[in-house]
Amino acid sequence: MNYPVNPPSQPDLDRGTGSMKITGARVIVTCPGRNFVTLKIETDQGVYGIGDGTMNGREKAVVAYLEEHIIPLLIGRDPRRIEDIWQYLYRGAYWRRGPVTMRAIAAVDVALWDIKAKMAGMPLYDLLGGRSRDRVMVYGHANGSDIAHTVDEVGRYISEGYKAIRAQTGIPGLDKAYGISKDKKFYEPAEGELPLETVWDTRKYLNYVPQLFDKLRDTYGFDHHLLHDVHHRLTPLEAAQLGKRLEPYSLFWMEDSTPAENQEAFRLIRQHTTTPLAVGEIFNTLWDCKDLIQNQLIDYIRTTIVSAGGLTHLRRIADFASVWQVRTGSHGATDLSPVTMGTALHFDTWVPNFGIQEYMRHTPETDAVFPHDYRFDDGFLLCGETPGHGVDIDEALAAKYPYSPKQLPVARLEDGTLWNW
Ligand SMILES: [Mg+2]
Repeated sequence: MNYPVNPPSQPDLDRGTGSMKITGARVIVTCPGRNFVTLKIETDQGVYGIGDGTMNGREKAVVAYLEEHIIPLLIGRDPRRIEDIWQYLYRGAYWRRGPVTMRAIAAVDVALWDIKAKMAGMPLYDLLGGRSRDRVMVYGHANGSDIAHTVDEVGRYISEGYKAIRAQTGIPGLDKAYGISKDKKFYEPAEGELPLETVWDTRKYLNYVPQLFDKLRDTYGFDHHLLHDVHHRLTPLEAAQLGKRLEPYSLFWMEDSTPAENQEAFRLIRQHTTTPLAVGEIFNTLWDCKDLIQNQLIDYIRTTIVSAGGLTHLRRIADFASVWQVRTGSHGATDLSPVTMGTALHFDTWVPNFGIQEYMRHTPETDAVFPHDYRFDDGFLLCGETPGHGVDIDEALAAKYPYSPKQLPVARLEDGTLWNW
């Protein structure tokens, strides 16, 4: 969709020194293996910024929100006024929060930070306040069809230099447990026009998973960080039981052990286990985790840039969390584009209360569409020194991969009851 280069004049612009205007903004949807929604904002100074608004399985809702409702508001505005534009889009919509709104705002926000850092000639971490660390510890995903397979996969990650590994295992008698990949290297759960139906049984899971970590510690010792994602499958009491049973294996964290719509649910888990708790990859604002953080019911907040309104809001969450010694552990699955990964690495390089960064490798096709300057080295990711967030989009290549509908799976209990995937 094209918008006029010289829009009707708007009030309260040009308050900075000299004028600068947003002259155009476009949404680019591409599917180099999975769908990504990218916003490109252009200015009258020739500098442009790139933002990610991808929402896995519901991509076009964000496309419509951006094209129909946000882009017309941006044209003619001063891109340097990041905070004011954030507030304008958040308060101005009247309808606040939610995954679609906050992803659309994130796409704008990250593109504007990219523009500002390019204008300053600085890598983004420098604009945020400079380095707090030299490199960013990441964790990879080791997935196996059973315990022996997962143990082998963890060994492969260790041999690649990873210091932290998330271990997931299939469960005998259950078809397609969460986190189990068909492809060894590139796990992508979203596929097909209709959601894949998977089966879940809590009893079988609770019996099996402690055996995995027993075997992993027995095989590799305690030098590496091990993580586990429960993917919202347990009740608070069951999560408390699992946390307690995993204590001897000294996990880095137990993730998403129960849904957190009711933040108080974590109080029960916390009262019964010292296994560190992480949650928040589906949160969209500080209001989704305020009680969890200020009551010290979690140890790591998993919210990331694309889901929570961009850098402007995520750093507010991180600062709030720092007061209660809650550290960051940003979501970094492949349903976030390299734009979010690159921006997250600048955030991670700066944020004082950094914990860890999730890292799933994108496919070579995705990496080619989104040229970037971050790199993996011996278990760590390093952001580059290019001004901005260091990620671009090759629009000609992106156009070769048109949108393709893909849905995340659903889970049902063995009697057919729909459960949490
Ligand atoms: Mg997760």
